Amino acid sequence: MTTSAKPNPSVVNSRIEGMRDMDPAERRDVIAAASGIDATSAAALSGDSSLPLSVANGMIENVIGTFELPLGVATNFVVNGKDYLVPMAVEEPSVVAAASYMAKIARAGGGFHTSSTAPIMRAQVQVIGTGDPFGARAALLAHREELIEMANSKDTVLTGLGGGCKDIEVHVFSDSAIGPMAVMHLLVDVRDAMGANTVNTMAEMLAPRVEEITGGTVRLRILSNLADKRVVTASVRVPTDALTTKTLTGADVARGIVEACELAIIDPYRAATHNKGIMNGIDPVVVATGNDWRAIEAGAHAYAAQSGRYTSLSRWEIAKDGALVGTLELPMAMGIVGGATRTHPAAQAALKLMGVTGAQELAEVTVAVGLAQNMAALR
Ligand code: NAD
Repeated sequence: MTTSAKPNPSVVNSRIEGMRDMDPAERRDVIAAASGIDATSAAALSGDSSLPLSVANGMIENVIGTFELPLGVATNFVVNGKDYLVPMAVEEPSVVAAASYMAKIARAGGGFHTSSTAPIMRAQVQVIGTGDPFGARAALLAHREELIEMANSKDTVLTGLGGGCKDIEVHVFSDSAIGPMAVMHLLVDVRDAMGANTVNTMAEMLAPRVEEITGGTVRLRILSNLADKRVVTASVRVPTDALTTKTLTGADVARGIVEACELAIIDPYRAATHNKGIMNGIDPVVVATGNDWRAIEAGAHAYAAQSGRYTSLSRWEIAKDGALVGTLELPMAMGIVGGATRTHPAAQAALKLMGVTGAQELAEVTVAVGLAQNMAALR
């Protein structure tokens, strides 16, 4: 096995020729050398006892074994000027090849550019039985500082890292089928965590005080997977020349992509398939890094419907100079601490392979892969 010293992600070259003609062990050697991961990490990605039964037994209940998926590596990705090799765990053929090919095309135009908001998650605390939900809202907002301080009193690790509860919101549903309701949201910066356990614990802790303040009864106290304050945006700009095929000009291909996207924007039947194509890129990275793909899926589709009509998560346009410009925006509750990201040895190795140092960087690269996959499907 070829390995090298501590990785220096800035010198990783994700442009690897001839991967298709290698066998899995050769590919793993080449990827390990290119990314600088150590032999233990490379072995953890091999699939041979990657998840020991004893570890699996501690992860969920009634364990009888482990379940394997193929793990591939997408090549050619450049995101914000940095090269990435991207691990993808997925059962569907063509996904890894399509992502790699689109990343190659994008690379010629400078690759992908991304940005993200702070990693703010929401927890909801449902208050019923007050009769005056707007009064309850006003009372909770009047206690904002006290509630934030209380929420932050336990997780000193998180607050020490600059995270923690930053604000509260109170939403009112005055005409629900079970009577008026006030729903307090905790807005929590969860730093490098996915954050579900973190915010659930805070919401749980505040419940008795919320009942005292409102005179109501607290029912649900749990995170929202519609992480609309933890949003990643990726964009790509592809010169038309790079899109030319044997039978079509680059301008024709660009126009076709824009026209196909338009149907997804206006028609939920198409949008569902269009967004599935995006998730073909995102989910395999989420799975490979031990993240919660149900949370990512729930957040993505809820975000796609936030205007009241389910629509495309991406937009494709033709810029003034004729270049094809694609953008993708969605919530990304991904972590590099907590959950399976820490307990699954292959997930740990996958994070090392990517060379990401924080949850936001991981989320941004993952959304770039989603955009590449979307472009591949439309093309
Ligand atoms: P966690 O509680 O294991 O880890 C988070 C904690 O790690 C923080 O509260 C903090 O104390 C500590 N920490 C150490 N270093 C940190 C850093 N750099 N940044 C942030 N925190 C740091 O995990 P979690 O992320 O709160 O929860 C994730 C798990 O919750 C996943 O396994 C997910 O599947 C599960 N979950 C999901 C849902 C849902 O999506 N609806 C509901 C419940 C549980």
